[in-house]
Amino acid sequence: MSTMFFISLFDFFLPRFCPGCKQKLSAEQKYICDDCINSIPLATNSLIKIEYQRKFSDKKLISGFTAPFIFEKDKELQHIIHSIKYSKKFAVGNRLGEIIAEISGDEIKTWRIDFIVPVPLHHLKKANRGYNQSFYIAKGLGKSLNIPVNQSILKRVKFTQTQTALSLVERQENIGDAFKVKKTKTVKGKNILIIDDVITTGATLNECARILKEVGANKIYASSSAIAE
Ligand SMILES: [Zn+2]
Repeated sequence: MSTMFFISLFDFFLPRFCPGCKQKLSAEQKYICDDCINSIPLATNSLIKIEYQRKFSDKKLISGFTAPFIFEKDKELQHIIHSIKYSKKFAVGNRLGEIIAEISGDEIKTWRIDFIVPVPLHHLKKANRGYNQSFYIAKGLGKSLNIPVNQSILKRVKFTQTQTALSLVERQENIGDAFKVKKTKTVKGKNILIIDDVITTGATLNECARILKEVGANKIYASSSAIAE
């Protein structure tokens, strides 16, 4: 009997729902429905270039970044990310990582990444939530592109308040000295891809890149599911 048969049987007793629109998923849909995927606006190359200029170019820490989608408040992608963050939808996180690979994989391959590092959560936040949502996105991406994920390189040592309500300058101050590199030897001379769920100001990614470079990382790149303007 085919896997599809079992998925159909499973769906009959325990229907699966798309986290983006709450509609029932069909057997062949993998965690997120096609309607949702198709309605999330794609980040064009020119938008990525503009956002790179705004968030990363003057600091010269991040050598390149990519994100398949544009983040919109109260829309499908926000619901999808919330389901990973707050409802333990790990498979959805993995799927989002696969989608990043499908759309941005060719560019990421040109960066010759040695390993992927998800932006870490503070251990108190992690203890509270039980997991780091960016890790699952990183895992899906890494598996698709055959790049290892290293979760233990970076540690968050400062409990930062939620960044959302802060201005750009406040965010940069808030994030200062928030991270520590744990395995400096592993980092030396390596090209590292940092994964965050959504890129907002870029302050977190710049700070991660800064400390990784401080201990001898070669080039730091960044990726996320979406870019917020
Ligand atoms: Zn949907």
